[in-house]
Amino acid sequence: MFVRVDFNVPINKESNSIREDYRIRRALPTIDFLIESGAKIILGSHLGRPKGTIMQDLSLEIVSNRLSELINKEVLFCRDFMKDNLSEKVDDMPNGSVIMLENLRFHKEETTNDKIFSSNLASLAEIYINEAFGTSHRAHSSTYGMAQGFKTKIAGFLVSKEIKFISRMMKEPEHPFLVIIGGSKIRDKISALGNLLESADKIIIAGGAAYTFLKANGINIGSSIYEEEMIDWVREVYKKYQHKIVLPIDHVISKSFNKDEPCSISDKDIPEDHMALDIGPKTIELFNSIIKGPGYIFWNGPMGVFEFEQYSSGTIHVARAVALATWRGATSVVGGGETIAAIRKAEVLESEISHISTGGGALLEYLGGSQLPGIEILD
Ligand code: AMP
Repeated sequence: MFVRVDFNVPINKESNSIREDYRIRRALPTIDFLIESGAKIILGSHLGRPKGTIMQDLSLEIVSNRLSELINKEVLFCRDFMKDNLSEKVDDMPNGSVIMLENLRFHKEETTNDKIFSSNLASLAEIYINEAFGTSHRAHSSTYGMAQGFKTKIAGFLVSKEIKFISRMMKEPEHPFLVIIGGSKIRDKISALGNLLESADKIIIAGGAAYTFLKANGINIGSSIYEEEMIDWVREVYKKYQHKIVLPIDHVISKSFNKDEPCSISDKDIPEDHMALDIGPKTIELFNSIIKGPGYIFWNGPMGVFEFEQYSSGTIHVARAVALATWRGATSVVGGGETIAAIRKAEVLESEISHISTGGGALLEYLGGSQLPGIEILD
């Protein structure tokens, strides 16, 4: 079996250790199942963007070691599957063997979806499994090209769960359907936002994304971030969907984007020399009254610059409100790398959210209605 996993984990460069092994743990049900079934498992992933060169600090060896600890079993690490003639060696390996390939992006052919590289990868196995939802929007060798050479190409448990939750949300969400959008930019979310605005009953827009909306509504946003080129689009959208859209009504503001600069609370208009870096207490109260459940809740993007303690309150409150709504029977889907970090910060347990998506860009593209090559190619 070749399993395309997404072990693109955050690495602590100074100590060369894994900062967060969430992405490895999420693949364990599939890996455990395959081991128990007696398969020989070849795992392929990328880590970072080495762009076709070998970079020691982007080696998957530490990931391979961590996986070995998690499954309590030896994981053979293969530095170069072509030079090592891995396809010939696999036959002699015992059933249940686990082999982790070195960072596939050390080969420039991976991202160019090179035909020969793809067929070399495909020669390693008889069945192809995609367990890397987060890279499924890329038509690379390991996500797309190599899969073409397999008779059986299927989704792993995690990818199946992603598709199940997200398709349900797109096609038949339970109502009321509440969408919460944060983060810094609207530009990369417009297709997804367009579709969600149509199907949602209510949509909270906060974080940096809110200030383009507030500016378009004639509110003084001071020096807060906003996207000038999105103003016309936002005005159109607001005209059509203002009955659904909820924006922040007060803000935590500061003179500069610096964690040592003092901050204060501002209602409505923001002074010229200040920028909004989190939602204010009245907004938290307002959002809490909306994020209640039951129904379907989709959350993507933090409410403020949550990486700094003094601007994390809004995001933490929203994370806890989403968890509470889930306890009350809502189905909650949370997506995007930053949002997952925010959930951690709020000390919300993974089990308190119905589904935490591992896809960032892939999730937004899927929600925007694009076909994902890595999913389309599967049986
Ligand atoms: P995105 O990748 O678009 O989801 O953006 C995530 C980032 O948005 C986080 O790193 C936050 O620090 C940032 N962010 C959230 N709210 C604001 C804000 N009001 N001003 C500037 N950055 C923000």
